[in-house]
Amino acid sequence: MSHRIAILAGDGIGKEVMPEGVRALEAAAKRFGIELELEPFDFASCDYYLEHGQMLPDDWHATLSQFDAIFYGAIGWPDKVPDHISLWGSLLKFRREFDQYVNLRPCRLLPGIKSPLADREPGDIDFYVVRENTEGEYSSVGGTMFEGTDREVVIQETVMTRHGVDRVLKYAFDLAATRPRKKLTSATKSNGIAITMPWWDKRVAAMGQHYPDVNVDQFHIDILTANFVLHPDWFDVVVASNLFGDILSDLGPACTGTIGVAPSANINPEGTFPSLFEPVHGSAPDIAGKHIANPIGQIWSGAMMLEHLGYKEAADAIVAAFEAVLAEGDTRVLTPDLRGSGSTQALGQAIAERIAAG
Ligand code: ATP
Ligand code: MG
Repeated sequence: MSHRIAILAGDGIGKEVMPEGVRALEAAAKRFGIELELEPFDFASCDYYLEHGQMLPDDWHATLSQFDAIFYGAIGWPDKVPDHISLWGSLLKFRREFDQYVNLRPCRLLPGIKSPLADREPGDIDFYVVRENTEGEYSSVGGTMFEGTDREVVIQETVMTRHGVDRVLKYAFDLAATRPRKKLTSATKSNGIAITMPWWDKRVAAMGQHYPDVNVDQFHIDILTANFVLHPDWFDVVVASNLFGDILSDLGPACTGTIGVAPSANINPEGTFPSLFEPVHGSAPDIAGKHIANPIGQIWSGAMMLEHLGYKEAADAIVAAFEAVLAEGDTRVLTPDLRGSGSTQALGQAIAERIAAG
């Protein structure tokens, strides 16, 4: 069976790391006999916006719906297009209209990378953050009363639905059940947010009934952030609402060193719509055009995409390849953020060769 992948490189370093992500995918596809049809598009970029006055063509939904997955680079060119236009006109539309209700971010310390946390080694940090991506605190329910007066009142409601919460909890429990430690941590704040969060806790407990093998614990978000830093080894799968997940999914990867290696997935688990795989980093205008961006975030996102499509062995081979290249520590190959002097292409090529060699 052949899989169709839409390639959207976007802006800035997205255009530089995407070819390396594609190169790694092609190497893995060749080695494992996977048929991939990779089709590049120029939309969802600021160049496209400057030419067409919109980020996406009118028929984007029909066009992208035909694909099995979207491989995405980075969006944004703030000097020319304000971020709220580029982001809301592309990525956030995909998330919403393709119902990508799981945001998944691995947080894993890789060999050869120094964690900002003292004395941490690979193996100490290896967990996933599962963020609810469609509802919760990021709602538009609310408003302002007595605006501009000294009686001004501002309200923004949190909206949680049983459907919305249960489906992301199920995803997180399913993931925890596949992991050796089978541990799930729920981010809560039921001591302060007295309506939605106790209800969230109840939904976690109810879902847990179906997973007797999974160990469940919970932390209030304040102490949870502290424990990410103090005891990252405690965590395996961490599930959180939209706002808490947003915070944790930046903090987690930050504990593992350079932003250049962190991957992410926006998943529609049922496969009704394509899921989207992108590095955590943005378009990084400060280093764009210099060919020094680290391509590992893009390459690892590609591995997550292969795993999502059912090719776990190929995904593991990609991860093993960049881990091996990192562990070797050849500074001619590593990019400057890894304290090397190599280029994006040099690092991408070394990883692709390693994938091919097996
Ligand atoms: P955005 O607003 O799209 O998130 P940004 O420039 O604000 O873009 P990032 O792109 O995430 O934020 O980058 C923050 C900084 O981290 C950049 O200025 C860049 O120096 C560095 N950086 C980001 N990605 C990489 C990478 N792949 N390799 C090396 N350094 C990177
Ligand atoms: Mg930014």
